[in-house]
Amino acid sequence: MDEKQKGGISVNTENIFPVIKKWLYSEKDIFLREIVSNATDAITKHKRLCALGEATADDAPYRIDVTLDRVAKTLTVEDNGIGMSEEELKKYICSIALSGAVDFLQKYESSTDNAKGGIIGHFGLGFYSAFMVSDTVEIHTRSHTGAPAVHWVCNAEGEYELEQSDREGRGTEVILHIAEEENAYLNPVKIREMLQKYCAFMPVEIYFDDGDEKKEEETPAPINDTTPLWQKPISDCTEEEYKEFYHKVFPDMRDPLFQIHLNADYPLNFKGILYFPRLNPHFESTEGEVKLYYNQVFVADNVSEVIPEYLLMLRGVLDCPELPLNVSRSYLQTNSYVSKLSAHIVKKVADKLVQLCNNERAEYEKVWNDIKTFVEFAALHDEKFFDRVKGALLLKRTDGKYQSINEYLEGSADKCVYYTTDKALQAQYIAMYEAENIPVAELDTMLDTQFVAFLEAKLEGVKFRRVDADLSALGNEEKAEENKELCELFQKASGNETLSVKVENLKNADVPAILNIPEDFRRMQDTMRMYRMMEGEQVEDALPHGTALILNAASPLMQKLTALSGADAERALALASYIYKLSLLSVQKLSAAQMQQFLAESYRLLTDLAQ
Ligand code: ADP
Repeated sequence: MDEKQKGGISVNTENIFPVIKKWLYSEKDIFLREIVSNATDAITKHKRLCALGEATADDAPYRIDVTLDRVAKTLTVEDNGIGMSEEELKKYICSIALSGAVDFLQKYESSTDNAKGGIIGHFGLGFYSAFMVSDTVEIHTRSHTGAPAVHWVCNAEGEYELEQSDREGRGTEVILHIAEEENAYLNPVKIREMLQKYCAFMPVEIYFDDGDEKKEEETPAPINDTTPLWQKPISDCTEEEYKEFYHKVFPDMRDPLFQIHLNADYPLNFKGILYFPRLNPHFESTEGEVKLYYNQVFVADNVSEVIPEYLLMLRGVLDCPELPLNVSRSYLQTNSYVSKLSAHIVKKVADKLVQLCNNERAEYEKVWNDIKTFVEFAALHDEKFFDRVKGALLLKRTDGKYQSINEYLEGSADKCVYYTTDKALQAQYIAMYEAENIPVAELDTMLDTQFVAFLEAKLEGVKFRRVDADLSALGNEEKAEENKELCELFQKASGNETLSVKVENLKNADVPAILNIPEDFRRMQDTMRMYRMMEGEQVEDALPHGTALILNAASPLMQKLTALSGADAERALALASYIYKLSLLSVQKLSAAQMQQFLAESYRLLTDLAQ
């Protein structure tokens, strides 16, 4: 090239530059990803040409240098890749078939930012995103073919100049002259953060020079890991490596519970690692983080179109070269590849749980409490997932053992799972069941209430009964005699006219009276309470409709009370009231008034005893 050439970026319809600035505002940071991934591509292309014998490799290792010059106000990305000849530069950089892009932008003028973000890349505008932050962009490039190096300078209006460059080495240097109003991009902390976010796993070593003076002995290290663990064959990865990788990507001090390494061949063609984090579902938000990559280039976080929302509590990385680098939500929602991908991930997660349950039962039991909420949530949201994992749903028993639902039901005559929602409050009932060798399952989370009903609907013939709901297993064969007087005494003592009072023979003679609360009414009440609590209302404990007080004819205390009720009615009533409160204590917290009354009665009784 002998003379300087001048020209204008050829655009079919109208100038794209103002459009880029205006529309792509919300995702400005991605310009760096676009420029660095172009550099990576140029190096990959050169490698490929060398492998094909169409280019000659030299000794210089492949690398990308990102350099910030705060004085000159430039950010430079340099690679030693394939480079461009004058023709190539004109073809690839100076003219872009933009008509499609412009039409698209006009059409979606009023649509969401997400849809607009999808335009970059889709129409090959990646390089031009540099103009979102620069007022001038320069390129020095020398092709691997030995063609003369070229220098291109383009302003924000799209007017460029092309001349010979004095660049000696093969490859390309892109110099962004950061615009005055974008000087945030001259901050080394900001640039480092952006590189960490978008380029941490790019396949070519990237070095960042922030312009600060370096100590001589310092050997600069690349900012990225060029061979992320998800690319490694599964059989070569160790547990230690999985943990190390987790801590590198996610700011969590705790080790993950376990992970699923995904590696799907054609046609899905993606890789990834999903971790089950150690969360406490009672205290922590269950928001996870799944990062989506395109050939090791970061694309987006938590793409709920790819990973179903109910799996988003997981943390991990997915690398899908089949998806375009710039994904718009609307594109993902309608893409059949994405729905297959999502179904595949769900299946893999379910398979992992089943495999752990079947083959590593002790380990699985150890993590069950941590993953239980997640598994229940996912099962409630997706029947297919439930069908896969139903054999791997465990019940934690009050004695600390774990059983699958099937194992629990194996010894059961009535296909009924007895459970507690509060181990401390319902201790009296639990003890009675345990004395009969009937195991009790702990189902004590908010979600369990919903899950129990769901399981009953799904598992034919299986019932779930809270320990206070069904006392049939705890009663004696022998029927108790009716005792109308005693029933009336307790009715009066309870102060509750709707409470039904019955006499029965319980196996455990130590318990004088116990409340029996029908499962269905209680569940209904629980649901209503939950809604009211969500509305912020104060909810008082009340006994559900249909609650019965069972007086135990086998209890010596009851027998004495029967005798006393004839002799000293007042004392009998005081004792009955006290016994009623004790039975109430096993099902709910006393209200402030009830508690005060209970304490007063206790002191009175103790005073009597002391005399
Ligand atoms: P895309 O990367 O999607 O093709 P870009 O606008 O980012 O679109 O780049 C256009 C073309 O310019 C690239 O396809 C490539 O041929 C060329 N190019 C861009 N950057 C470089 C580079 N650093 N080295 C060599 N060629 C490049």
